[in-house]
Amino acid sequence: MFESLSAKFQGAFASLRSKGRLKSGDIAEISNEIRSALLDSDVALSVVDFFIGELKARTDLVLEDLNKSTNPANAVFEIVNSLLIEILGGSARRIRLAKNPPTVILLTGLQGAGKTSLAGKLAKYLKDQGNTPLLVASDLQRPNAVTQLQVVGESVGVPVFAPEPGNGVGDPITVAKNGLAFAKDKLHNIVIVDTAGRLGVDAQLMKEAKSIRDVVNPDEVLYVVDAMVGQDAVNTAKAFLDGVGFDAIVLTKLDGDARGGAALSITQVTGKPIMFAATGEKVTDFDLFYPDRMASRILGLGDIATLAEQAKGAFDSDTASKLESKFASGEDFTLDDFLAQLEAMKKMGSMTKLLGMLPGANSGAMKKQLEQFDEGELVKTQSIVQSMTPLERNDPKVLNGSRRSRIAKGSGRQVSDVNSLVERFSQAQKVMKQMRSGKGGMQLPPGMALPAGMPKAPAAKVINKKKSRSGNPAKRALES
Ligand code: GDP
Repeated sequence: MFESLSAKFQGAFASLRSKGRLKSGDIAEISNEIRSALLDSDVALSVVDFFIGELKARTDLVLEDLNKSTNPANAVFEIVNSLLIEILGGSARRIRLAKNPPTVILLTGLQGAGKTSLAGKLAKYLKDQGNTPLLVASDLQRPNAVTQLQVVGESVGVPVFAPEPGNGVGDPITVAKNGLAFAKDKLHNIVIVDTAGRLGVDAQLMKEAKSIRDVVNPDEVLYVVDAMVGQDAVNTAKAFLDGVGFDAIVLTKLDGDARGGAALSITQVTGKPIMFAATGEKVTDFDLFYPDRMASRILGLGDIATLAEQAKGAFDSDTASKLESKFASGEDFTLDDFLAQLEAMKKMGSMTKLLGMLPGANSGAMKKQLEQFDEGELVKTQSIVQSMTPLERNDPKVLNGSRRSRIAKGSGRQVSDVNSLVERFSQAQKVMKQMRSGKGGMQLPPGMALPAGMPKAPAAKVINKKKSRSGNPAKRALES
């Protein structure tokens, strides 16, 4: 995600950190580097100007104080971090449920932006929180949009109101109106209306979206935008804002090689928050958008908060507490525990994506390792462990040559694969011990140990967030 932008930010700070005491020329230099990084990433010029203007103002004001802090470069880093969070919208914004259900959510945006996919993701997300959503198929234009919505609705167990076949047949406004009546009748507490897009903004599209809006009176109009489109997306968003109006934005396709232009410009330009982010084609590739986590990723600090949440969701509470108490009591981590972790990791989805949330994941060496990461490795590793007896899993030291060859046969692997797993496992055990004794560099989320076979992450460059409160008011303001 935003790899090139992230690499440029990290590069700029690496050279600033090497300087020690900062002069105003150093600030000008990093401002220029950040400016060209933002422009290269297709961030709107007005946003770049705002960002650089604020950066200069905030650093100039406190340059003296920056130099009094033990690490002036980190103080600048904190300012850049807070500016990034600011242009990304500040804090996460959640769906506002209507006082009198159903809450009506209207999806708008261009064709191909990901509205229909998002309808399914959103329906699942809301259903998992105990709601009873209904999907309404008002995209009667795009070929197969109705069928696509029906398929995705079925896959997430959410009913779809689709009285018309679509493909140009049927009136989307009537469908939206009847869908709402149906939801009220059947006591659905949320209605998600999928609408048609066009390849570009046109008067007909705006008119249709507006008519649907007027007939369903939505509580939330979400504008869905493909993050890969870059700054152009921002111009279209403005046209939608003026023509139809919307309350919040959903960024899709953040898993692709989007440069970051849309994400970093859209809130500042439209004044509307980004509410959700989609990061893939699966219904689970979706989450609330957290400006602070995104800023953290861009600055190379990873997204440990999301990683921890996903880990927590994947481990059932029994497994997690068993592993945690084992870890705390100093008991050895066994291959059985490892197997439980592999199962949980499979539930967490793509390993490359997960590891991409680690600090430094966008940096050269780690990035290369991630690119070479074989997603099938988990299954292979799992089959080896599953071919071991309980005794062997508990005490891998008993694994002599004949046992290893039996395991290799049983799992359809080579003896060298078994050897390598055992070797990596004992390394992982060592890492666990180091972490327990506080000598390890990186803290992983609870219940999650560094699995054997995973690429090793470079030690995290952690910014010390708990700085002392300074007696100097300007510096204190900076700290807070
Ligand atoms: P719509 O015309 O706005 O309804 O767009 P669709 O929901 O049909 O999405 C267009 C294409 O983008 C489909 O092939 C989707 O599978 C794909 N897509 C949607 N969201 C994402 C995403 O977050 N990541 C990726 N990689 N593909 C996505």
